[in-house]
Amino acid sequence: MTSETIRDPVKDQLLTPQNSALLIIDYQPVQVNSIASMDRQKLIDNIVGVAKAGRAFTLPIVHSTVNVKTGLNKPPIPHLRKVLADLPTFDRTSINAWEDIEFAEAVTATGRKKLIMTALWTEACLTFPALDALQAGYEVYVVADAVGGTSVEAHHAALRRIEQAGGKMISLMQLICELQRDWGRKETVPAFVKVVSGIPGTFAIQLAYDSDMATVNRLTLEGSTVTGVEFEWRDEVRKIKASNEVVLSAGAIQTPKVLILTRIGDRTELARFGISTVSHLPGVGQNFQDHPIIGSALWEPHEPLAARANAAEANLFAKSRPDLNTPDLHIWHVEAPYVSEATAPYAMGTAWSISPALVRPESRGFIKLKSADPREAPEIHANMLADPRDLAALREGMEINGAMSMHHPTCTAKMGQDDLSVVDAQLRVYGVKNLRIADASIMPTITTGNTQAPCVIIGERLAEILKA
Ligand SMILES: Cc1cc2nc3c(=O)[nH]c(=O)nc-3n(C[C@H](O)[C@H](O)[C@H](O)COP(=O)(O)OP(=O)(O)OC[C@H]3O[C@@H](n4cnc5c(N)ncnc54)[C@H](O)[C@@H]3O)c2cc1C
Repeated sequence: MTSETIRDPVKDQLLTPQNSALLIIDYQPVQVNSIASMDRQKLIDNIVGVAKAGRAFTLPIVHSTVNVKTGLNKPPIPHLRKVLADLPTFDRTSINAWEDIEFAEAVTATGRKKLIMTALWTEACLTFPALDALQAGYEVYVVADAVGGTSVEAHHAALRRIEQAGGKMISLMQLICELQRDWGRKETVPAFVKVVSGIPGTFAIQLAYDSDMATVNRLTLEGSTVTGVEFEWRDEVRKIKASNEVVLSAGAIQTPKVLILTRIGDRTELARFGISTVSHLPGVGQNFQDHPIIGSALWEPHEPLAARANAAEANLFAKSRPDLNTPDLHIWHVEAPYVSEATAPYAMGTAWSISPALVRPESRGFIKLKSADPREAPEIHANMLADPRDLAALREGMEINGAMSMHHPTCTAKMGQDDLSVVDAQLRVYGVKNLRIADASIMPTITTGNTQAPCVIIGERLAEILKA
């Protein structure tokens, strides 16, 4: 836990905000659109990430374009212009930026010997100035995942040539981590997190989650009127007041939990946790429905499957019995080994899977509080295949190995007018004022198809109701 004293940032062999400069060359529409060495959107995300890192760590930045003043080419892509708006651009006619006098002077003026270089294309506008800079005694660091060429071969050949001349390859994430170096350097942590959060990927999602997300503990009440939200953010409990109504949209698992912690739910169940009831709604957390899926029949291909499209384009909806009104089986094909815990040992690296899912289940589960502590996850009693009719239907689908969730939990705060209903047709929660629910929990029964699109429709419908 004890970090060494910060090294002299100017003499440090690693990149620091004080010993390096950033060069950004020719991210103009023509160049970006002719990149074939990587996904273009990823390239844009990465170069914007590099530029943002440069700004966040206050690196000297030399930004250059080619042929804008001659009218032969357009200014840099807007995503980049937004980040670098207030910086001058050194426009050139020379493909090799190093042969442009103003550009070379701007690099010299930074006073830095370590040059972090990005340019399009790798084989021309990056390679030429990189080789010249190395020759002139600079250290060159190429952000390899923020540069691209007109083909994979051209890109790699160019990177090899730079490397053979002594250039070093880095990546965007490496650059940002190298500039930050230590979480203990607290003054740059917010900027570091902001830049990393903007780069698509799971690390960014996690960081954004950790730094920005607030967790709703419960809703606040005055009598039976919902007045706002109590939430926890960065270890601090806060409250906000709603000017009109509160819309709860925490999903089929969390919505019942928040309702119960708000004192809305089954009286006896609430009493188990010492919570008094403001609205006795026995249906809160009941009626849980999901699509059980069997994982799976696997076929191993002779050669690895190339990744393409969404890998799950073939779907079949079928009836397990001819007398049914609607299909109750969804036979799902996916170009990956799709397995349950039980079938995982048979998973091969690459496979086609065929997995039947039950989409009109009769079984009903429920959600329960584990404790009155809002930080504690609720218990999920999915009760999959508890009803023998479900098992029989799935057997029609195939020999069963192990059923798992298709990740479609729904119906735990259902709309309706019977004793188990939680919301009315206007999505208002019974027994309290100023509270509506809009998520998968309000479905009375699970949809036959996947659940995401119906959830969008629920949201759209709520918007119409609120606007009316
Ligand atoms: C791995 C996976 C794959 C899926 N694939 C598909 C698919 O291919 N097609 C399809 O149609 N459906 C798919 N689904 C299902 C689909 O995503 C859900 O049905 C849908 O998102 C449900 O919407 P919702 O609004 O009810 O809940 P959610 O989308 O779960 O939204 C609830 C939100 O509330 C937040 N939240 C919960 N509790 C709290 C709290 N206490 N405080 C603050 N925030 C809170 C959550 O973080 C979340 O952002 C998939 C689901 C998963 C998990």
